[in-house]
Amino acid sequence: MQRIALILPFAVLALLVSGCKSAARGHAGPVPDPVLDTGHRRPLPPPNRRPVARRKVAPKKPVRRVAGVPGDWYPTAGIRKDRWQCIVVHHSASPKDSPESMHRYHLSQKKWPNGLGYHFVIGNGVNYPDGAVFVGKRWKQQITGAHCKSGNGRFFGTWRQRNYFNTHGIGICLIGNFENNRPTAKQMQSLRRLIAFLTPEAKINPARVYGHGEITRKTACPGRLQVAALRRSSGGINAAAR
Ligand SMILES: [Zn+2]
Repeated sequence: MQRIALILPFAVLALLVSGCKSAARGHAGPVPDPVLDTGHRRPLPPPNRRPVARRKVAPKKPVRRVAGVPGDWYPTAGIRKDRWQCIVVHHSASPKDSPESMHRYHLSQKKWPNGLGYHFVIGNGVNYPDGAVFVGKRWKQQITGAHCKSGNGRFFGTWRQRNYFNTHGIGICLIGNFENNRPTAKQMQSLRRLIAFLTPEAKINPARVYGHGEITRKTACPGRLQVAALRRSSGGINAAAR
């Protein structure tokens, strides 16, 4: 008992001292969080590690261009082959027209937001160079034309919905009044060339090259321009027979 009495104070003292020590250690600084403390020691990359491969992007298909065809005949985003099904030929009804004058008229008088209703205009040498092909915004953007209104009905033996010829028809206008005059040789040359380009590129059957009046039966447009002969020369008969 005496021995215990002797040891006890020492034991208590030892406990107090060690307790103080641990308490002192506890207040020395924050205890590092084992999860958050990354110790800013990033693991070194393994030797010869390859850089992360970039996601592969499919290369854009290059547009196949026909030699000798003006570059602006190809719209930047390509031709919407699913959209175009026929070509509608017009005359402007005045030899003094130009693509710009017609654009202004369609914009301010007709109030068409996109202006010029045709996709292409071919000059006659008066206010636009003879045979020069003007490429309209509607072709560049592959959007619907405003050149040949039509209702629901049968056309050339097939049922067509209202406005079919504006929605699916490429409008080409030759400057001039072909009720009084004939188109110039250069205009016809450019028209044939344009049709020869468009029919395969836009996947249009050459039998579907029409004159405005053939569709609506309400206009003399395009006057004396022989659209039937144009169809024949562009392979329309052969295509129609297929
Ligand atoms: Zn017309």
